[in-house]
Amino acid sequence: MYNDYAELRNELVTGKVSCTDIVKYYLGNIEKGKHLNAFLLIFKEEALKRAEEIDSKLKAGTAGKLAGMVIAVKDVLSLKGYKLTCSSKILENFEALYTAAAVQRLLDEDAIIIGKTNCDEFAMGSSNENSAYGSVLNPVDNTRVPGGSSGGSAAAVAADMCMVSLGTDTGGSIRQPAAFCGIIGLKPTYGRVSRYGLTAFASSFDSIGPFAKNIHDAALVLEVMAGKDKNDSTSVELSVESYSQNIESINPATIKIGIVEDLDDEGLQPEIKESMNQAAEFLKNKGCEIVPVKLPNLKYSIQAYYILTTAEASSNLARYDGARYGLRAKDSAILEDMYVNSRTEGFGPEVKRRIMLGTYVLSHGYYDAYYKKAQKVRRLIKDDFRNVFEKVDFILTPTTPTTAFKLGEKTNDPLAMYLNDVYTTSSNLSGNPALSIPAGNDNSGLPIGLQVIGKDFDEAGILRLGNLLMNRK
Ligand code: GLN
Repeated sequence: MYNDYAELRNELVTGKVSCTDIVKYYLGNIEKGKHLNAFLLIFKEEALKRAEEIDSKLKAGTAGKLAGMVIAVKDVLSLKGYKLTCSSKILENFEALYTAAAVQRLLDEDAIIIGKTNCDEFAMGSSNENSAYGSVLNPVDNTRVPGGSSGGSAAAVAADMCMVSLGTDTGGSIRQPAAFCGIIGLKPTYGRVSRYGLTAFASSFDSIGPFAKNIHDAALVLEVMAGKDKNDSTSVELSVESYSQNIESINPATIKIGIVEDLDDEGLQPEIKESMNQAAEFLKNKGCEIVPVKLPNLKYSIQAYYILTTAEASSNLARYDGARYGLRAKDSAILEDMYVNSRTEGFGPEVKRRIMLGTYVLSHGYYDAYYKKAQKVRRLIKDDFRNVFEKVDFILTPTTPTTAFKLGEKTNDPLAMYLNDVYTTSSNLSGNPALSIPAGNDNSGLPIGLQVIGKDFDEAGILRLGNLLMNRK
């Protein structure tokens, strides 16, 4: 088992192992962990073939930055010529026509894509139980959910089925599963990574980011993926830092950490609160200044998030009508029936709920009361963050109110499921980068995650602070 890419790279360069060995190793683990249902597609032949090619490049000294890094990709990201289902029945047989920019950049640096991972349908969910292809099990405790929506990607890294994986985060879908599975998950600033080739859920929220076991690997992958892309006008023209360099260079005495005073901690599990306190204490002892801060509008974030994202989703998902691509219901007498029947058969219950909610909040007579108001709240939350980041460098919060819950525990109560996102949605509303790092276990041995939120485009900073917290002695 390789805990970090630098170690592997060293062995690849010195010839101690080959990419073929590595691919075989991960394929073996995928086979062993089949019951977890983390993968929807496995690229066995292709990965082995690519391993051979990259082995030759390594010998010739022409291999890219990620040579031999085995990566799994959430099945909402396109890879040309391969199925792209978004874990939905409506796209069951759809093949991607082009490759997502983020994935292409990894391929260009000689990463090996090992497969596509299971997730909640169209990335809507917090438990991976909304997949048309079955739930994913948490590798730490198979009776529990891995989190969602990027549950397969998190489980794949946690169960050592790949070194790194890609997920997407619209309201916590990278950070929450990372916390539930005991690994690192990074949501970059909105606009840092191109969304070209990512199937849209809520376009003004969606971000692509890595899952990894250590900060260096997450940093390296981000550094390769990030940057302006001409095919995504919301990707930002800002130079990309070498995130993987100087991760250890941090001077705690110059750092101010915000702890949110008015955070809703009613449903917060005591062990997570304890883990937060320990982290704050550690940072204080290291010399950081701990500053109590207020984010008064944070309490509205779940409501604003579920109004705005469902509104955007109702528009984005209008394209699945049975006419252009994806599932087409048979035996419809007229065109309208075909639309209705295809969508009725193709979408699962959570996706339907969100399309209806979104259509409602955008409809005449309700637009001002819901959609417009939620937009205003979004602005207030962004302003809250702006104000706080004038005083502090980072904000530290729990990632989730509880550790991984049982499969089936919340499936009949959408509100309870939505409340799981209480600490994560705010940084999607505001766009700020946020990182979840493992921080101990609860009394049942389940992983706890802590979240570091940073200033816009300060991925380097949150990675450094995350590294400091992960290497506590
Ligand atoms: N759990 C949240 C939701 O259901 C977040 C999803 C996401 O980030 N893709 O919308």
